[in-house]
Amino acid sequence: MEAKLKNDKSDELRMFFLNFYRFVFTDTKMIMALNITDRCNLKCTHCYWWREEHPPQLDDDAMIALMKEQRKAGKNIALLYGGEPGLRPKIIKAASELFEATVVYTNGMVGFPDIEVTWMVSLDGTREIHDSIRGKGVYDKVMKNIERDTFRKPVVHFTITRQNQHNIEDMLKMVSDNKRIRGIGFSFFTPEQGKHDNGLFIPLDERDKIVDELMELRKTYWRVMGFNKGTANQFRTTGAYSKWNSLEKCTVTKMVDCFNADGTPITCIYGNNADCSRCGCGGIAAYRGAFKSWSPMALFTAAAMVASKKKEA
Ligand code: SF4
Ligand code: SF4
Repeated sequence: MEAKLKNDKSDELRMFFLNFYRFVFTDTKMIMALNITDRCNLKCTHCYWWREEHPPQLDDDAMIALMKEQRKAGKNIALLYGGEPGLRPKIIKAASELFEATVVYTNGMVGFPDIEVTWMVSLDGTREIHDSIRGKGVYDKVMKNIERDTFRKPVVHFTITRQNQHNIEDMLKMVSDNKRIRGIGFSFFTPEQGKHDNGLFIPLDERDKIVDELMELRKTYWRVMGFNKGTANQFRTTGAYSKWNSLEKCTVTKMVDCFNADGTPITCIYGNNADCSRCGCGGIAAYRGAFKSWSPMALFTAAAMVASKKKEA
Protein backbone atom coordinates (compact mmCIF):
# COMPACT_ATOMS: atom_id res chain seq x y z
CA MET A 1 0.00 0.00 0.00
CA GLU A 2 2.77 2.40 1.04
CA ALA A 3 4.78 1.50 -2.09
CA LYS A 4 1.71 2.22 -4.25
CA LEU A 5 1.25 5.64 -2.66
CA LYS A 6 4.93 6.40 -3.26
CA ASN A 7 4.58 5.39 -6.93
CA ASP A 8 1.44 7.55 -7.29
CA LYS A 9 3.30 10.50 -5.80
CA SER A 10 6.31 10.08 -8.09
CA ASP A 11 3.96 9.70 -11.12
CA GLU A 12 2.27 12.95 -10.14
CA LEU A 13 5.63 14.70 -9.71
CA ARG A 14 6.84 13.41 -13.06
CA MET A 15 3.62 14.59 -14.74
CA PHE A 16 3.93 17.96 -13.04
CA PHE A 17 7.44 18.62 -14.38
CA LEU A 18 6.56 17.27 -17.82
CA ASN A 19 3.47 19.49 -18.05
CA PHE A 20 5.35 22.48 -16.68
CA TYR A 21 8.09 22.03 -19.26
CA ARG A 22 5.58 21.68 -22.12
CA PHE A 23 3.55 24.66 -20.96
CA VAL A 24 6.42 27.08 -20.47
CA PHE A 25 9.14 25.97 -22.88
CA THR A 26 7.34 24.47 -25.87
CA ASP A 27 4.53 25.38 -28.22
CA THR A 28 2.75 22.08 -27.56
CA LYS A 29 -1.00 22.46 -27.85
CA MET A 30 -2.19 21.94 -24.29
CA ILE A 31 -5.48 23.80 -24.46
CA MET A 32 -8.83 22.85 -25.97
CA ALA A 33 -11.32 25.67 -26.55
CA LEU A 34 -14.79 24.30 -27.12
CA ASN A 35 -18.07 25.98 -27.90
CA ILE A 36 -20.37 23.60 -26.05
CA THR A 37 -23.64 25.12 -27.21
CA ASP A 38 -25.00 27.56 -29.75
CA ARG A 39 -28.05 28.15 -27.58
CA CYS A 40 -28.27 31.19 -25.34
CA ASN A 41 -30.71 32.49 -22.76
CA LEU A 42 -30.02 36.15 -23.61
CA LYS A 43 -30.23 38.31 -26.72
CA CYS A 44 -27.57 40.92 -26.15
CA THR A 45 -27.78 43.95 -28.43
CA HIS A 46 -24.17 43.69 -29.61
CA CYS A 47 -24.20 39.93 -30.24
CA TYR A 48 -24.33 38.41 -33.70
CA TRP A 49 -24.53 34.86 -32.33
CA TRP A 50 -28.24 34.55 -31.60
CA ARG A 51 -29.10 36.18 -34.93
CA GLU A 52 -27.34 33.50 -36.97
CA GLU A 53 -28.24 29.93 -37.92
CA HIS A 54 -25.87 27.24 -36.66
CA PRO A 55 -25.47 23.58 -37.64
CA PRO A 56 -26.82 21.08 -35.07
CA GLN A 57 -24.56 20.84 -32.02
CA LEU A 58 -23.01 17.55 -30.91
CA ASP A 59 -25.15 15.61 -28.47
CA ASP A 60 -23.79 14.90 -24.98
CA ASP A 61 -22.12 11.59 -25.85
CA ALA A 62 -20.44 12.92 -28.99
CA MET A 63 -19.22 16.06 -27.22
CA ILE A 64 -17.79 14.10 -24.32
CA ALA A 65 -16.12 11.74 -26.83
CA LEU A 66 -14.51 14.77 -28.53
CA MET A 67 -13.21 16.01 -25.17
CA LYS A 68 -11.79 12.58 -24.34
CA GLU A 69 -10.06 12.45 -27.70
CA GLN A 70 -8.52 15.86 -27.08
CA ARG A 71 -7.46 14.86 -23.57
CA LYS A 72 -5.70 11.81 -24.98
CA ALA A 73 -4.01 14.05 -27.54
CA GLY A 74 -2.38 15.94 -24.66
CA LYS A 75 -4.75 18.76 -23.79
CA ASN A 76 -4.62 19.66 -20.10
CA ILE A 77 -6.83 22.71 -20.05
CA ALA A 78 -10.37 23.19 -21.39
CA LEU A 79 -11.92 26.56 -22.14
CA LEU A 80 -15.70 26.22 -22.51
CA TYR A 81 -17.88 28.88 -24.03
CA GLY A 82 -21.05 29.27 -26.13
CA GLY A 83 -23.81 30.57 -26.61
CA GLU A 84 -24.35 30.08 -22.92
CA PRO A 85 -22.35 27.07 -21.65
CA GLY A 86 -24.29 27.03 -18.37
CA LEU A 87 -27.17 25.49 -20.34
CA ARG A 88 -25.15 22.25 -20.59
CA PRO A 89 -24.04 21.46 -17.01
CA LYS A 90 -23.45 17.80 -17.90
CA ILE A 91 -20.73 18.79 -20.39
CA ILE A 92 -19.15 21.20 -17.91
CA LYS A 93 -19.06 18.47 -15.26
CA ALA A 94 -17.52 16.00 -17.71
CA ALA A 95 -14.83 18.52 -18.67
CA SER A 96 -14.04 19.22 -15.02
CA GLU A 97 -13.45 15.50 -14.50
CA LEU A 98 -11.36 15.04 -17.63
CA PHE A 99 -9.05 18.06 -17.66
CA GLU A 100 -6.56 19.41 -15.16
CA ALA A 101 -8.18 22.84 -15.36
CA THR A 102 -11.47 23.97 -16.87
CA VAL A 103 -12.49 27.58 -17.41
CA VAL A 104 -16.12 28.39 -18.27
CA TYR A 105 -17.10 31.71 -19.87
CA THR A 106 -20.69 32.39 -18.82
CA ASN A 107 -23.24 35.19 -18.76
CA GLY A 108 -24.05 34.14 -15.18
CA MET A 109 -27.81 33.74 -15.73
CA VAL A 110 -28.00 30.11 -14.65
CA GLY A 111 -25.63 30.65 -11.75
CA PHE A 112 -22.39 28.96 -10.80
CA PRO A 113 -23.11 25.34 -9.95
CA ASP A 114 -21.01 23.26 -7.62
CA ILE A 115 -18.54 22.02 -10.26
CA GLU A 116 -14.77 22.17 -10.00
CA VAL A 117 -14.13 24.82 -12.66
CA THR A 118 -13.15 28.48 -12.86
CA TRP A 119 -16.22 30.56 -13.68
CA MET A 120 -15.55 33.64 -15.78
CA VAL A 121 -18.66 35.79 -15.77
CA SER A 122 -19.09 38.42 -18.48
CA LEU A 123 -20.22 41.79 -17.18
CA ASP A 124 -20.39 44.68 -19.61
CA GLY A 125 -20.58 47.34 -16.95
CA THR A 126 -22.44 48.33 -13.82
CA ARG A 127 -26.24 47.92 -13.69
CA GLU A 128 -27.39 50.58 -16.14
CA ILE A 129 -24.85 49.80 -18.86
CA HIS A 130 -25.03 46.02 -18.45
CA ASP A 131 -28.83 46.03 -18.68
CA SER A 132 -28.85 48.37 -21.67
CA ILE A 133 -26.79 45.74 -23.52
CA ARG A 134 -28.05 42.44 -22.03
CA GLY A 135 -31.63 43.23 -21.02
CA LYS A 136 -33.53 44.74 -18.11
CA GLY A 137 -32.95 43.02 -14.78
CA VAL A 138 -30.03 40.91 -16.02
CA TYR A 139 -27.42 42.63 -13.85
CA ASP A 140 -29.37 42.07 -10.62
CA LYS A 141 -30.06 38.45 -11.54
CA VAL A 142 -26.36 37.75 -12.14
CA MET A 143 -25.31 39.51 -8.93
CA LYS A 144 -27.90 37.50 -7.01
CA ASN A 145 -26.46 34.29 -8.46
CA ILE A 146 -22.96 35.40 -7.43
CA GLU A 147 -24.18 35.92 -3.85
CA ARG A 148 -26.16 32.66 -3.78
CA ASP A 149 -23.69 30.15 -5.26
CA THR A 150 -20.94 30.13 -2.70
CA PHE A 151 -18.95 27.08 -3.87
CA ARG A 152 -16.57 28.96 -6.15
CA LYS A 153 -16.06 32.68 -6.52
CA PRO A 154 -16.28 33.78 -10.16
CA VAL A 155 -13.89 36.11 -11.93
CA VAL A 156 -15.47 38.98 -13.87
CA HIS A 157 -14.55 39.31 -17.53
CA PHE A 158 -15.03 42.85 -18.82
CA THR A 159 -14.78 43.48 -22.58
CA ILE A 160 -14.05 47.16 -23.15
CA THR A 161 -16.03 48.72 -26.00
CA ARG A 162 -17.21 52.17 -27.01
CA GLN A 163 -20.34 51.49 -24.92
CA ASN A 164 -18.59 50.98 -21.60
CA GLN A 165 -15.15 52.57 -21.88
CA HIS A 166 -16.09 55.22 -19.31
CA ASN A 167 -17.36 52.66 -16.82
CA ILE A 168 -14.03 50.99 -16.02
CA GLU A 169 -13.38 52.62 -12.65
CA ASP A 170 -16.96 52.01 -11.46
CA MET A 171 -16.55 48.34 -12.36
CA LEU A 172 -13.28 48.16 -10.45
CA LYS A 173 -14.94 49.70 -7.39
CA MET A 174 -17.83 47.23 -7.61
CA VAL A 175 -15.50 44.22 -7.88
CA SER A 176 -13.24 45.51 -5.15
CA ASP A 177 -16.22 45.93 -2.76
CA ASN A 178 -17.77 42.54 -3.56
CA LYS A 179 -16.11 39.81 -1.55
CA ARG A 180 -17.88 37.12 -3.61
CA ILE A 181 -15.92 38.09 -6.75
CA ARG A 182 -12.31 36.99 -7.11
CA GLY A 183 -11.16 39.70 -9.45
CA ILE A 184 -11.60 41.21 -12.89
CA GLY A 185 -9.89 40.60 -16.23
CA PHE A 186 -10.06 42.84 -19.29
CA SER A 187 -10.31 42.35 -23.03
CA PHE A 188 -11.03 44.82 -25.79
CA PHE A 189 -13.74 44.20 -28.35
CA THR A 190 -12.41 42.22 -31.35
CA PRO A 191 -14.27 42.93 -34.60
CA GLU A 192 -14.85 40.47 -37.41
CA GLN A 193 -13.25 40.99 -40.80
CA GLY A 194 -15.63 42.51 -43.31
CA LYS A 195 -18.44 43.00 -40.78
CA HIS A 196 -19.80 46.17 -39.25
CA ASP A 197 -18.51 46.56 -35.70
CA ASN A 198 -21.73 48.26 -34.50
CA GLY A 199 -19.63 51.15 -33.26
CA LEU A 200 -18.09 48.98 -30.52
CA PHE A 201 -14.48 48.86 -31.64
CA ILE A 202 -12.05 51.37 -30.13
CA PRO A 203 -9.26 52.34 -32.59
CA LEU A 204 -5.83 51.13 -31.55
CA ASP A 205 -4.29 54.57 -30.88
CA GLU A 206 -7.19 55.40 -28.59
CA ARG A 207 -6.94 52.00 -26.98
CA ASP A 208 -3.33 52.78 -26.02
CA LYS A 209 -4.69 55.63 -23.87
CA ILE A 210 -7.14 53.28 -22.15
CA VAL A 211 -4.25 50.93 -21.45
CA ASP A 212 -2.48 53.87 -19.73
CA GLU A 213 -5.67 54.55 -17.79
CA LEU A 214 -5.84 50.91 -16.68
CA MET A 215 -2.25 51.07 -15.44
CA GLU A 216 -3.07 54.23 -13.50
CA LEU A 217 -6.11 52.54 -11.94
CA ARG A 218 -3.95 49.57 -11.05
CA LYS A 219 -2.21 51.73 -8.43
CA THR A 220 -5.50 51.67 -6.48
CA TYR A 221 -7.12 48.39 -7.56
CA TRP A 222 -4.12 46.10 -8.04
CA ARG A 223 -5.55 43.51 -5.67
CA VAL A 224 -8.45 42.67 -7.99
CA MET A 225 -7.03 43.54 -11.41
CA GLY A 226 -5.92 40.84 -13.84
CA PHE A 227 -4.05 43.47 -15.83
CA ASN A 228 -0.44 44.40 -15.20
CA LYS A 229 2.62 45.94 -16.82
CA GLY A 230 3.29 42.83 -18.91
CA THR A 231 -0.31 42.70 -20.21
CA ALA A 232 -0.26 46.43 -20.96
CA ASN A 233 2.90 46.04 -23.02
CA GLN A 234 1.27 43.28 -25.12
CA PHE A 235 -1.63 45.60 -25.99
CA ARG A 236 0.34 48.76 -26.75
CA THR A 237 0.95 49.54 -30.41
CA THR A 238 4.29 50.93 -29.26
CA GLY A 239 4.94 47.71 -27.30
CA ALA A 240 4.68 44.04 -28.25
CA TYR A 241 1.30 44.13 -30.05
CA SER A 242 2.76 43.59 -33.52
CA LYS A 243 4.52 40.44 -32.28
CA TRP A 244 1.24 38.51 -32.00
CA ASN A 245 -1.68 40.25 -33.71
CA SER A 246 -1.79 38.00 -36.77
CA LEU A 247 -3.00 34.46 -37.32
CA GLU A 248 0.51 33.19 -38.03
CA LYS A 249 2.07 34.67 -34.90
CA CYS A 250 -0.75 34.40 -32.37
CA THR A 251 -0.36 32.10 -29.39
CA VAL A 252 -3.81 30.64 -30.09
CA THR A 253 -2.65 28.94 -33.27
CA LYS A 254 0.36 27.52 -31.42
CA MET A 255 -1.24 26.40 -28.16
CA VAL A 256 -4.98 26.00 -28.62
CA ASP A 257 -7.25 23.77 -30.68
CA CYS A 258 -10.66 25.43 -31.03
CA PHE A 259 -13.93 23.72 -31.95
CA ASN A 260 -17.45 24.72 -32.90
CA ALA A 261 -20.42 23.16 -31.12
CA ASP A 262 -20.85 20.76 -34.05
CA GLY A 263 -17.29 19.50 -33.52
CA THR A 264 -15.71 21.24 -36.51
CA PRO A 265 -12.35 22.94 -35.90
CA ILE A 266 -12.03 26.72 -36.05
CA THR A 267 -8.99 28.97 -36.00
CA CYS A 268 -9.88 31.01 -32.92
CA ILE A 269 -12.45 31.29 -30.12
CA TYR A 270 -13.57 34.51 -31.82
CA GLY A 271 -14.32 32.54 -35.00
CA ASN A 272 -12.71 32.01 -38.38
CA ASN A 273 -13.26 35.62 -39.41
CA ALA A 274 -11.92 37.42 -36.36
CA ASP A 275 -9.81 40.41 -37.32
CA CYS A 276 -6.42 39.55 -35.80
CA SER A 277 -4.99 42.94 -36.77
CA ARG A 278 -7.44 44.53 -34.30
CA CYS A 279 -7.52 41.73 -31.72
CA GLY A 280 -8.35 42.64 -28.13
CA CYS A 281 -8.03 39.24 -26.49
CA GLY A 282 -7.07 39.72 -22.84
CA GLY A 283 -6.18 36.04 -22.43
CA ILE A 284 -3.44 36.16 -25.05
CA ALA A 285 -2.11 39.50 -23.76
CA ALA A 286 -2.04 38.17 -20.18
CA TYR A 287 -0.39 34.90 -21.20
CA ARG A 288 2.26 36.60 -23.31
CA GLY A 289 2.74 39.35 -20.74
CA ALA A 290 3.46 36.71 -18.13
CA PHE A 291 5.55 34.19 -20.03
CA LYS A 292 7.48 36.51 -22.29
CA SER A 293 8.61 38.57 -19.32
CA TRP A 294 9.48 35.71 -16.96
CA SER A 295 8.07 37.13 -13.78
CA PRO A 296 8.12 34.85 -10.69
CA MET A 297 4.33 35.21 -10.52
CA ALA A 298 4.08 33.91 -14.09
CA LEU A 299 6.08 30.83 -13.24
CA PHE A 300 3.93 30.27 -10.17
CA THR A 301 0.79 30.56 -12.32
CA ALA A 302 2.19 28.10 -14.85
CA ALA A 303 2.93 25.67 -12.04
CA ALA A 304 -0.63 26.01 -10.72
CA MET A 305 -2.11 25.48 -14.18
CA VAL A 306 -0.24 22.32 -14.98
CA ALA A 307 -0.29 20.74 -11.52
CA SER A 308 -1.51 17.20 -12.11
CA LYS A 309 -4.61 16.11 -10.24
CA LYS A 310 -4.20 12.55 -11.51
CA LYS A 311 -7.27 12.22 -13.65
CA GLU A 312 -8.20 9.49 -16.06
CA ALA A 313 -8.82 10.36 -19.69
S1 SF4 B 1 -24.81 36.02 -23.52
FE1 SF4 B 1 -23.13 35.89 -24.99
S2 SF4 B 1 -23.82 34.48 -26.60
FE2 SF4 B 1 -25.62 35.08 -25.40
S3 SF4 B 1 -26.51 36.76 -26.55
FE3 SF4 B 1 -25.16 37.65 -24.98
S4 SF4 B 1 -23.14 37.92 -25.95
FE4 SF4 B 1 -24.41 36.54 -27.24
S1 SF4 C 1 -8.36 36.99 -33.23
FE1 SF4 C 1 -6.81 37.39 -31.68
S2 SF4 C 1 -6.78 35.58 -30.38
FE2 SF4 C 1 -7.80 35.02 -32.31
S3 SF4 C 1 -6.17 34.15 -33.60
FE3 SF4 C 1 -6.39 36.35 -34.09
S4 SF4 C 1 -4.87 37.38 -32.82
FE4 SF4 C 1 -5.19 35.34 -31.97
